[in-house]
Amino acid sequence: MEQFITEHLDDVLEDLRRIVHCETPSQDKTLLDAGLAEIRALACERLGEPAHEARTPGGAFGDVLELRWPGSSVEAEQPVTSVCHYDTVWPAGTLSVWPMSIEGDRLTGPGVLDMKFGIVQTLWAVRALRSAGIPHAPLRLLLTGDEEIGSVAGRPVIEAAAADSRVTLVPEPSASGQPKDRRKGMVFADVTVHGVEAHAGLEPENGASAVHALAVLVPQIVALAAPERGTTVNVGTLQGGTGRNVVAGQAQCLVDVRVTETAEQERVADALRALSLPEPYRSDERLRLELDVDANRPPMNPTPASEAAMAQLKQVAAALGRELAPRMVGGASDANFISALGLPVLDGLGAVGEGPHAWHEHILISGIAPQTALLAGMLTE
Ligand SMILES: [Zn+2]
Repeated sequence: MEQFITEHLDDVLEDLRRIVHCETPSQDKTLLDAGLAEIRALACERLGEPAHEARTPGGAFGDVLELRWPGSSVEAEQPVTSVCHYDTVWPAGTLSVWPMSIEGDRLTGPGVLDMKFGIVQTLWAVRALRSAGIPHAPLRLLLTGDEEIGSVAGRPVIEAAAADSRVTLVPEPSASGQPKDRRKGMVFADVTVHGVEAHAGLEPENGASAVHALAVLVPQIVALAAPERGTTVNVGTLQGGTGRNVVAGQAQCLVDVRVTETAEQERVADALRALSLPEPYRSDERLRLELDVDANRPPMNPTPASEAAMAQLKQVAAALGRELAPRMVGGASDANFISALGLPVLDGLGAVGEGPHAWHEHILISGIAPQTALLAGMLTE
């Protein structure tokens, strides 16, 4: 497997360049559609016309495209699903200042690690199996376009596909070549206070300061953290007001909470939804608190189904001379949804690299063949 990929490395890199050079920011439906068309074309060139194809419109979000190719045996059997998101966090125009480039072992470009390599990796894993004549399961490639903004459109399709799969593989970035078996869950909150503006010198009594009110809420929010249970709270932005001499008419903070336990996710989400202004702000009718709380992805913890899949992955790795030690990470992925349903899922099977969502995002070229071989091993019968 590895040798096949190494021999075809130039083609693999060219495929990666082809789809990295289609910008696919999560919020731009036109670019997402164009990028998905390019990925579909690439997949068909590499694996042939799919036996089955289904497209689920995403509305304002990226569409979900399901492509299926048969396995080597004629008997109908459950497919192995590879879930890949084709959206990235990088805005349109990023490529003009940051095209894909290679320096030594490092390959950089917007979205190479998270997770365009995972798409190319899936295609080449099947090519490697076919070329070696190794029997493999049917492949379902599920391409989603809104993972970076919560998988609103992707989630139901992903969950249905995972329920009809032998195992679901998620080639999101690996942890230095290691899979990820635990991920934190998340709660996002937008906390906004609406007040009344007034001149701070001439008539402050006619104003009701949203900044003052929000400022006293922030410590309450921060106090929801419970590090001993793995729950962290970050008030990432705090904005409000228009000028020094103006009583602030509006203030807002954006809150990011990570949890390792489902009970903690519920506790924090409930507490955030129950936030209220303390006195004297509470009785000031000119002030209004607006809360938008989203307990999006549940935490991912090992289940019997995913532990069985992990045992199989470890066997595949051992045959490749590797020893796997799954890692826990803070970031969430679509695997969180699948795991919460008790379905078998393996996450973090993708590129070796660093800097997802950051300007130093890169993958290591030396990791391409080993990671592709690992993925291929999970597709064998
Ligand atoms: Zn990702």
